[in-house]
Amino acid sequence: MRVLMVAPPGAGKGTQATVIASHFDIPHIATGALLRDHVARDTDLGKAVREHLDRGELVPDAIVMTMVREAIVAAKAAGGGYVLDGVPRTMEQARAAYRIGLELNMTADVALHLQADDEELLRRLRARAVVERRSDDTEDVMRHRLRVYYEVTHPIIAWYRERGILVPIDAMRPAKDVARDIIDALEARRRTTGDAGAS
Ligand code: ADP
Repeated sequence: MRVLMVAPPGAGKGTQATVIASHFDIPHIATGALLRDHVARDTDLGKAVREHLDRGELVPDAIVMTMVREAIVAAKAAGGGYVLDGVPRTMEQARAAYRIGLELNMTADVALHLQADDEELLRRLRARAVVERRSDDTEDVMRHRLRVYYEVTHPIIAWYRERGILVPIDAMRPAKDVARDIIDALEARRRTTGDAGAS
């Protein structure tokens, strides 16, 4: 099973990607977490992206896609499945991910779109800010990330609809209900299309 997720900040990408990864026993590739890890370790890449993260701006496509390419190569070696959490965030990243997929015979089977309204997203991000103390979960930066999502990321959804792999999910309900819907939808898709990936 090869899944990517397009969703606004706070919709639950990370939580749901973890569920998908364990259900299908596939690698969870989370670009935000990978980037924050570089920042925490103060690597050259971390130094280059720290300011973008703190301001809630997107990291340059080339940096993210180099990271993603490595992760997809590793996923292929690990059995062929993956769940991509945080990519694509721009049309250019969507095209790059597709090119990498074609080249490695690893294109996504499903693009999950987690839907939730802004009130709920901001409520969740505020709650997370208290628990995780992420540098990008301040009120101004949260609102900015939401704006960036609508301007730059949301338009990608139409592209996946045209490709016939879009699966919309109502993410306004409790996490376990959303997870059940996602797993049901992915299992249904696996039965109708046959799974080219692992397990
Ligand atoms: P959220 O979806 O809640 O904003 P993430 O952990 O997915 O959280 O992303 C946090 C930050 O990491 C983003 O605001 C952005 O700065 C950076 N980032 C993550 N993925 C990408 C990407 N694909 N392209 C550019 N920047 C990214």
